[in-house]
Amino acid sequence: MSETSETRNVIIVGSGPAGYTAATYAARANLAPLVFEGSVTAGGALMNTTEVENFPGFRDGIQGPQLMDEMRAQAERFGAELVADDVIELDLTGETKIVRTEEGTFTARAVILATGSGYRKLGIPDEDRLSGHGVSWCATCDGFFFREQHIAVVGGGDSAIEEATFLSRFGSKVTLIHRRGELRASKIMQERAFADPKIEFAWNSEVSAIHGEDKVTGVTLRDTETGEERHLDATGLFVAIGHDPRSELLHGQVRLDDEGYVLVDAPGTKTNVSGVFACGDLVDHVYRQAITAAGTGCAAALDAERFLADLD
Ligand code: FAD
Repeated sequence: MSETSETRNVIIVGSGPAGYTAATYAARANLAPLVFEGSVTAGGALMNTTEVENFPGFRDGIQGPQLMDEMRAQAERFGAELVADDVIELDLTGETKIVRTEEGTFTARAVILATGSGYRKLGIPDEDRLSGHGVSWCATCDGFFFREQHIAVVGGGDSAIEEATFLSRFGSKVTLIHRRGELRASKIMQERAFADPKIEFAWNSEVSAIHGEDKVTGVTLRDTETGEERHLDATGLFVAIGHDPRSELLHGQVRLDDEGYVLVDAPGTKTNVSGVFACGDLVDHVYRQAITAAGTGCAAALDAERFLADLD
């Protein structure tokens, strides 16, 4: 897409459930939104998963990429203009918002930020290949698939413990793998994990290999002190070592919290900059689900619509 001089009503940056839902609402409000979807990861986090069983409306579940195709087509049907380019620079502080891609410079009266967040990965071979086939980053999403199985959880902070205690409802056993000899998690979370008879601990351990052709059949653990390796027969591997909001472009533009998430006027989606709204996992430390991202995407479009109506 080449440079245009026309100032849009609204530009949406991001194309997961938040961005596409915002696009559908904005398009149906006759705002003719322009959506930058990203060049490599258009469609967002669910493009990397298989079955999604908890998005309302699909009683038999739906494949992640298919769900995102449907959301995309729905936004397009109502006239959203979708462009698979990365936004590389933003200037949001003025009345007219400036959005730059490699292809040109675009302007809008309002901007909705929906760039999501990325789960931190272990960075070992086969992690991506087996994602959705035993490797997961979300117990709420995938715990149900691992009933009566041995589940491994990697991490030592509050979220790892939360994932492990949640997963112990489903698994026959949960092994919490931690690089150190003690947890970083808060005392109360630690006590909860220690009291759970289904949770075992692999201290001073890291995952050095993931095994399995079509699905995970086990992992190799390496002792972080001795280097000794051993096999763990887990068939589920949950990686809970944190996530990072995709807010690199937003430093100095909108207010961020200490971890880089965009601060909004919750339960609304206004940022501290007039005409700039944010939604989805980019603002959400807590829920990080497709449906909550879609919900705040809807709210962002409604907030933007009201903002524009007040300008007119
Ligand atoms: P994302 O889905 O992360 O989308 C944001 C997108 O914005 C990016 O992917 C990219 O395409 C685009 N973008 C980023 N930066 C730029 C830029 N500079 N320019 C242009 N575009 C940009 N949730 C569930 O409810 N159920 C599940 O079963 C489930 N399974 C999951 C499985 C996996 C493997 C993962 C990783 C997550 C899963 N989740 C699930 C969580 C869910 O995917 C997220 O909560 C949701 O996708 C967040 O939506 P979002 O729109 O905020 O961001």
